[in-house]
Amino acid sequence: DRPLSEVDPEIAAVLDAELGRQRDTLEMIASENFAPRAVMQAQGSVLTNKYAEGYPGKRYYGGCEHVDVAEELARTRVKALFGAQHANVQPHSGATANAAAMHALIRQGDGILGLELAHGGHLTHGMKINFSGRMYEVSAYGVDPQTFRVDMDVVRATALSSRPKLIIAGWSAYPRQLDFEAFRSIADEVGAHLMVDMAHFAGLVAAGLHPNPVPHADVVTSTVHKTLAGPRSGVILTTDEHAKKIDSAVFPGQQGGPLMHAVAAKAVAFKIAGSEEFRERQTRTLEGAKIIAERLTAADAKEAGVSVLTGGTDVHLVLVDLRESQLDGKQAEDRLHEVGITVNRNAVPFDPRPPMVTSGLRIGTPALATRGFGAAEFTEVADIIALALKPSFDADALRARVAKLTERFPLYPSAGATA
Ligand code: PLP
Repeated sequence: DRPLSEVDPEIAAVLDAELGRQRDTLEMIASENFAPRAVMQAQGSVLTNKYAEGYPGKRYYGGCEHVDVAEELARTRVKALFGAQHANVQPHSGATANAAAMHALIRQGDGILGLELAHGGHLTHGMKINFSGRMYEVSAYGVDPQTFRVDMDVVRATALSSRPKLIIAGWSAYPRQLDFEAFRSIADEVGAHLMVDMAHFAGLVAAGLHPNPVPHADVVTSTVHKTLAGPRSGVILTTDEHAKKIDSAVFPGQQGGPLMHAVAAKAVAFKIAGSEEFRERQTRTLEGAKIIAERLTAADAKEAGVSVLTGGTDVHLVLVDLRESQLDGKQAEDRLHEVGITVNRNAVPFDPRPPMVTSGLRIGTPALATRGFGAAEFTEVADIIALALKPSFDADALRARVAKLTERFPLYPSAGATA
């Protein structure tokens, strides 16, 4: 029963250092968040010891009476949150949720149609060396070269020519909302299933601040750790019609024993996501992204060659366009890192620079909104970013401004790195 600091001081030091990094910098990676302490407590619990292959009431192991309660709570809560008929809360991650959903709905060699990776799609939506690209016949729709938005006429034309069995709507880097009704009607027209991967925007949907794909899709997949702020993991929502197929695709199709500590932590996250406090936080998330987009489309940003794809945002992230800037994506990411802001460089559609360099940044607001930031703080953050992206900048002065913000909003004040 010895503590981590005694058993493994090297790993304990990593945890402490990482907690310090999260506390002392501004986390703006769009796919990240700070899980509440309650979620981390469930995740770092005795449930990690339990094998529970199967589903509540139908397990292949004894002693599942308590973990059954946790899984049932997770399923009931997530169904209520999104208005779904059926939920599978066992996927270990977003990628395995997508693999299971495809496994359930289509067969090897069938066609899938998703958003081009280079235009904001995800690896699991058909990238060449991902399972999705190797097992299925991939076609892709891109964004319009002028508007940088998904054009539903192009989606329809591509679907009519490639005749996919599965259409995927969803993204990892796209600053606008998709038209789920239009996707549904195209899927019906070509006889395809519709899968929506809401990994990025699920928290906004839960808060009622983004259209809900559940009424339109055969299957909706998601991660639980991005805007939803839960444990690192996945979830699948579906209809009664597909429920059996989805469950057997997850187990035994894709996975063995579920991670019951993660399942319990998902239950906690889904409970929190139904609260007024969560909704208020998602409102600040959206507000923060709009403030950053506005600041980075102002005249001085334009002068520095900085702009924002699609001219703004409807979600929790902004895609910064650096094609006209002296800085490439890598240099811009490094500059922000130097002043204490963590973002990731991101290719813009039709990017002239190579993928390891890129001409863009993806900047997200979920983690800072969780930390408590509101309009005033996001205005300050936006200003720091705009100044850091100018041809010359004062790193020390900007670092001091970042430090002021991090000091005012303590992170995990009552918990150590192990919750
Ligand atoms: N789907 C989308 C749209 C994503 O953005 C991501 C993660 O970046 C995933 C799926 C995969 O999630 P995970 O990293 O949990 O496998």
